This record gives sequence, C-alpha cells and structure tokens, in this order.
Amino acid sequence: MKKNIETLCIHGGYKAKKGEPQQLPIIQSTTFKYETSDQMARLFDLKDEGYFYTRLANPTNDAVAKKIAALEGGVGAMLTSSGQAANFYAVFNICQAGDHFITSCNIYGGTYNLFGVTMKKLGIECTYIDPDWDDEKIEACFKENTKCFFGETISNPGGNVFDIERFAKMAHKHGVPLIVDNTFATPVNCRPFEWGCDIVTHSTTKYMDGHATQVGGCVVDSGNFDWEKCENTAFPVEKLEGVTSPTKYHGLTTPDESYHGLTYTTAFGKMAYCTKLVSQLMRDLGSIPAPQNSFLLNLGLETLALRMRQHCSNAQKVAEWLEQQPQVGWVNYCGLPSSKYYELGKKYMPNGSCGVIAFGLKGTREDAIKFMDSLDFISIVTHVADARTCVLHPASHTHRQMSDEQLREAGVAPDLVRLSVGIENVEDIIADLKQAMNK
Ligand code: PLP
Repeated sequence: MKKNIETLCIHGGYKAKKGEPQQLPIIQSTTFKYETSDQMARLFDLKDEGYFYTRLANPTNDAVAKKIAALEGGVGAMLTSSGQAANFYAVFNICQAGDHFITSCNIYGGTYNLFGVTMKKLGIECTYIDPDWDDEKIEACFKENTKCFFGETISNPGGNVFDIERFAKMAHKHGVPLIVDNTFATPVNCRPFEWGCDIVTHSTTKYMDGHATQVGGCVVDSGNFDWEKCENTAFPVEKLEGVTSPTKYHGLTTPDESYHGLTYTTAFGKMAYCTKLVSQLMRDLGSIPAPQNSFLLNLGLETLALRMRQHCSNAQKVAEWLEQQPQVGWVNYCGLPSSKYYELGKKYMPNGSCGVIAFGLKGTREDAIKFMDSLDFISIVTHVADARTCVLHPASHTHRQMSDEQLREAGVAPDLVRLSVGIENVEDIIADLKQAMNK
C-alpha cells in the first residue's frame, strides 16, 4: 500500500511481526551467529542476505536506513556516523584519484573544506561554481574526468535555494549524476529525486533527529542513474585487465577485485551504487553509526513531519517580524516575498522550507555579540535544526579567525546571524528576540 510521508515517518523501515517489539529494537551486537561455515561464506560472497558484522550491516541501522530511503523515494540508503561521512562517501563512491567534480559554492563550511582540502589530498579535485552564474559559464567547468555535481537544497548558513531541476538537467547533459544534500529541507518539504536528482545525502544530526541527541548521516540512492551508459575516454583501457570498454564509472561497472571480481551493476542493477557504498566503502572505512544512535534517530524521524510543519510556521512568522525591526539590516528566508529565492522556494518547497533564517543586524560584530548574549531561552550553539530555537554568529564563532573580507569571500556576511527557529510558542520566540534586540 502506498503511504504518505507522515505515515512513512512512523511505519517506514520496520514492521513488528507477531510477538515482536512494537518499537524498533536496539540490536547492540557487533556480530551475528551462524550454524555452518558455508552459511557464513555465502554471506561474504554476497550470495545470501544476512547479518554478520555490524560494520557492514545491523538490523537497527538497516531499518532506519530503509525508512529514510522510503521518505526520499529511493531504492536504498546507507547510514553513516555523521553528515560529513555521508557527503564524503557519496562522492568517493564514484570518484577516485585523478577525478574531478563540480560543487555549488553555497554549501556548509565543513563540506566546503572536505571537498577543497581533504579530498584534494586524495587526488580528487573540485571546482566551486556560483549557482547564480549562467549555464554557459557553469557548463564550461565540466571536464572529461568530471564525475558528479553537488549542491545543497537550502544552503547552510546562507539559506540559498538550489535549483535542483536546472542542475539535474545540466549534470545529465554532461553524463554525470547530481548529488543533493537535503539536510535542511528534509524529505517532508522537498524530495530532490522528483526533480531529477540522483543521490541525496543528509546530516541526520539536524531535523531528522531534531532533539540534538546523535550525530549521524545518510546517503540515499534514487536508483535512476545509468552508470553503464557513460563511455569513459579519459580512463585508459589497458589499466583494466580483460575489460575492453570501461565506462566512466568503472568502479561500479567493472569487476571489483576486492570482492571476488564481482561487478556491482551486473549483480545488483539499480542497487549497484548503494551496494558498493556498503560492501566496499563501509567495509574499508567503517564510519557506521552505533545502533543506539540509530534508535534515537528513529524516534526523531517518527515526529519529523509534525515538527517540520511547526518549524516552518514559526520561522515564517519570525522572518516577517524580523523584516519589520529597525535594528535589522536584512533577512534571507525563502518564505519571504522579498527573498531572492522566493520563487525557487515556492517551486521546490510549496509547503514550507525549514526553520533556519539568516539575517543581519545593523551595527558592528560587537552589537551582534551583545544581542546574542542578551537572549533568554534562545541558546547560542554551533548546532542547528533542533526543536529548541538557537542562534549562531559565524563571524564570532565558526569563522572567527577570518577578517570581514575573508568572510565575504567565503560567502558569509560579517553581520550574518543564523537563527534556527524551534518549535516553542512563536510569541515567546519573538518576545525573546525583541528584548535582546532592545538591549
Ligand atoms: N550538511 C549540512 C547541510 C550541514 O548543515 C552539516 C552540519 O552542520 C553537515 C552536512 C555535516 O553534518 P554532521 O555535523 O552531522 O557531520
């Protein structure tokens, strides 16, 4: 039976059978027992399905991954121990030393560093593009060894909306998949696969958890990208013994020697990308979440649809109020008609976007600090997308080592305050902001 998103939030991924626990059980065991050596061998050969070691698969983790796959409308998903790991795995699953990818520059700072610094050390280069550039300028950045295109549905901290359909078409024109980090919108408000995106990532630490209890991530595959279709002229044939026409994604379409010569696309079809993620990358890199954390994440997911509605309704009212305040220089929230992203927001997230608002106070960095120090229950935290309203001033916190000029270059206005509107009573949130602003 086809289920709506609210129902999937509760029932996706796990169904108790007769006499089984109604709530998803925490299977806190590293390993799983078998009766014969052959039973175990068949698991290692990927001939049978079953659990044997939690780094590769665990029933609690799997149930939550299945729920998120169902919420996004994907064929499969893999949980990771953080959102950082999810973005790394999503790209690294199809890129290796010598490859290149394109990313929007409007992305979370941690992802920006991961791509530009750490992945560069692995020999994978990226080009940052400004989504405001015209198609011609962006298309000129594609190279023979370009393997994917990356963006964030709603960027952290700026709140810019990514034009998923436009960039999916562009990526496909150049024979590469589009990967979208859908952390802020969540599948409740936006389902990137419906707009042509191929792979979705999440920091589940944020709204999906919603209660600041666990750090986690997830990669979801739509199963739609045709990995076999793309010829690869950049990769020399002689490097792959016995393979005469390697595709651009030869890691998926040619035998994996570390898996008994198995070819993911042949053996798993639409599940090829996801199977490689688990059976090669997770096997070798091992950033799995603890089952206890997946249990906590699942509790958050149960109320995700409810909470997102409240976050969006509160944030809309707070953003409208902020716009009226004489102390406020500017507000960026795509629910405001004044926002540059209003039309894109309406297209991709007609029922609301998220609770995160970026705004600037008139005055100096010191004024912003005084405002934040004067808040009552609204807390100063690095975290975002939580049930509690919280605030961060990147220039004083996450980016404090930078000059105003360096901040602007990184796309963060020196006066930018990131306000993550929670699900408290909206009048209380506004009252707290007001008394702090008056001080
Ligand atoms: N993606 C986005 C959009 C984020 O906001 C964050 C963290 O703030 C991450 C990825 C990284 O996630 P994590 O902190 O769970 O590693």
